[in-house]
Amino acid sequence: MYQPAAPHLRLLRLLRDQGPVSRAELGDRLELSRPRLLAEVERLVAAEMIVEAGMAASRGGRRSTLVELHPRLRFAAVDLGATSINVEVTNGRLEPLAAYQEAADIRSGPRAILLRVNELLAKARTDGVYDRLDAVGIGVPGPVSFRDGVPVSPPIMPGWDRYPVRELLTQEYGCPAVVDNDVNIMAIGERHGGVAHSVDDFLFVKIGTGVGCGIHLNGGVFRGVDGCAGDIGHIQVESHGPACSCGNTGCLEALFGGAALARDALAAARSGESPALAARLEALGGAASGGATLTARDVAIGAAEGDITCIRLIRDGGRRVGSVLATLVSFANPSMIVIGGGLAQLGHVLLAEIRSVVYRRSLPLATGNLPVVLSELGSRAGVTGATVLASDALFEQAS
Ligand SMILES: [Zn+2]
Repeated sequence: MYQPAAPHLRLLRLLRDQGPVSRAELGDRLELSRPRLLAEVERLVAAEMIVEAGMAASRGGRRSTLVELHPRLRFAAVDLGATSINVEVTNGRLEPLAAYQEAADIRSGPRAILLRVNELLAKARTDGVYDRLDAVGIGVPGPVSFRDGVPVSPPIMPGWDRYPVRELLTQEYGCPAVVDNDVNIMAIGERHGGVAHSVDDFLFVKIGTGVGCGIHLNGGVFRGVDGCAGDIGHIQVESHGPACSCGNTGCLEALFGGAALARDALAAARSGESPALAARLEALGGAASGGATLTARDVAIGAAEGDITCIRLIRDGGRRVGSVLATLVSFANPSMIVIGGGLAQLGHVLLAEIRSVVYRRSLPLATGNLPVVLSELGSRAGVTGATVLASDALFEQAS
């Protein structure tokens, strides 16, 4: 059941999202009586969450004191992908003060990956970005028990099952930590500062190494009972399709996604079906050694050059994603679909195909005004959402 957030939580979120606000305006916006507001402000100043910062311009009558988040507040955000680590440290308004992005293999296990995360955050501290962190948010590429703060049976993350990620981060940094699925944090990020700004009901589809969907309904992410809501990569789209990492066959992500596209690109290069991909493989020295690999990026370049096979690979993928999305649109009736993840770089060929299938296959009422658009935040969607979750975790504790 919907319950309005507590006044202190609304107050802190307002300052986070809008910057300094006068006491008078805070009272109006939060619909709090003057004594009640003053008590909240006093309490949050004492807790070093906010500061009073000079006088606002007069609204007629007495001038009102400006209130803002404490300038010392620092949040850390971590977005772990199958093949990447993104880390940001932000101030209270979630503006990045330091950002690191590097390649990593999630299969190297939680110790190695979290050690690297700690090293990157230590670098930010050495560089004077923070003295202490107030909260940490982290996204991982698999199902998560949000309540327990642990990954749960993640298919592509050997060694991470029920690994105490939240507990270890809380111990390491002495502050609240939040663990969520990578697609959920991207959806939250896109709503905070991207194309879905202030949109309450939308789907965020991540097409990266795998495929997943963040379900943002009624103003919040829907995670499901076990944290695997939106795991659309494992919906079966072909009964006799290729084997999938999850153990089933014919899953969406066994047919399309970074891993599947790399596989199909390599096959098309070796058979000579695609001149562009064959040339690319040759340039990498792969035809002789057999060890080189192609990626989605090679397919994107080939398609831009007009290679028929590359265009077909992207269209086939878009059609498969689109048919799953058409089903989801009929089911959830969202007001927007946002496409993100590494394969969003396939751009307009992919987007056009997804749109055409979604519009053709869904009910006219549900698609009458349904934008299907690319993520605005791109590779920053995840870290942005992780800082939103981290700040909420701190603010909730301030009661
Ligand atoms: Zn599967």
